[in-house]
Amino acid sequence: MIRPILPGATIGVLGSGQLGRMFAIAARQMGFRVHTLSPDQDTPTGQIADLEVVASYDDLDAVRKFASNVSVVTFEFENVPTETAQAAESCAPVRPSGGILHVTQQRIREKAFLTRAGLPITPYREVRSYNDLLNGLKDLGGYSAVLKTAAFGYDGKGQFKIDSLVHVNEAWVGVQQKESVLEAFVDLQCEISVVAARAADGTFVHYAPAENQHSRHILDVSIAPARVSHSIAREAVEMTRCVLERLGVVGVLCVEFFVTRDEKLLINELAPRPHNSGHLTVDACVTSQFEQQLRAVCGLPLGSTAMHRPAAMANLLGDLWQNGEPDWPAACAFPELKLHLYGKLEPRPGRKMGHLTALHSDVEEAHMTVVRARESLTRKPE
Ligand code: AMP
Repeated sequence: MIRPILPGATIGVLGSGQLGRMFAIAARQMGFRVHTLSPDQDTPTGQIADLEVVASYDDLDAVRKFASNVSVVTFEFENVPTETAQAAESCAPVRPSGGILHVTQQRIREKAFLTRAGLPITPYREVRSYNDLLNGLKDLGGYSAVLKTAAFGYDGKGQFKIDSLVHVNEAWVGVQQKESVLEAFVDLQCEISVVAARAADGTFVHYAPAENQHSRHILDVSIAPARVSHSIAREAVEMTRCVLERLGVVGVLCVEFFVTRDEKLLINELAPRPHNSGHLTVDACVTSQFEQQLRAVCGLPLGSTAMHRPAAMANLLGDLWQNGEPDWPAACAFPELKLHLYGKLEPRPGRKMGHLTALHSDVEEAHMTVVRARESLTRKPE
């Protein structure tokens, strides 16, 4: 057992995006203080935190100083270098541990871990040369594949679909001829994810699986509970439990799954932190994924994951600002809708600026409402 870290203590967050912001809101609500460290200024997390430290993740002296001033370090951005997590670990507990970051921030290590754990994943080949790529395509049965950089990929960045011989070169140039994984392209029925938390004493809790729809490789809409069979939902939760236990996670982790047309689950990837598909837990559940992260890393008992009502979440990307400021009053006119904005100053295309959550006793209605509300935000060109 770990000694609980109590309200009034300070939590350190590596990273400063929207995940850190919503964590900081949950932490402040429960009377904790929050420090954040990242290379940026006036960040989504920094706007909520008590202290925003601006330093590069490679500045290990700054990282050690940061960790020395907090009771526990957690992160909202899993791509911090391993050395950064190690430097923090020399001064404070880091939860989940740097070793977990090391496994999950690189696709080859992550897939090796999942294979060792006996969990099902998409057929893949490691690629370190153009020849590996050609051989991999042959092994995987031809030109329907995705090449993904092994490290530092998110939201479809560093991913290249291969449909024919012409794309092979493009994809290899796309990954900058760096270590990659080649995955067979899966014929999907749908995609689901399970967000779960594990405490230091091994207690495990999970949220209802969410169903995720992507657009341009970026999560667009999440719906919970996912519209899948009980057996698929149960199996996904059991696989998620296995991942958290095998990794020894103390914190929150999300497992993303593909559901194939023949009703099989394949693990796509792991995120050792709260996840975009879990944002709806803020409005829909007794304990949000962010409060759960706080409780887990502080050694406090985990909270109930029960849902008040089914929910749907739609991301708001920078593209919405194309014709000026979105029509916020129009969205607020939907009484069952919650608006979340992350305080980002520059609305670039593809950038996650906020999200909407709709609640309804019927999940289809929640889905329709959130999509309609998002449409209402779009300004017509003048
Ligand atoms: P990732 O960054 O690996 O989560 O990929 C982003 C999205 O691209 C996934 O959520 C899928 O919608 C799609 N995708 C990635 N890999 C595959 C695959 N092997 N087969 C089919 N779709 C994929």
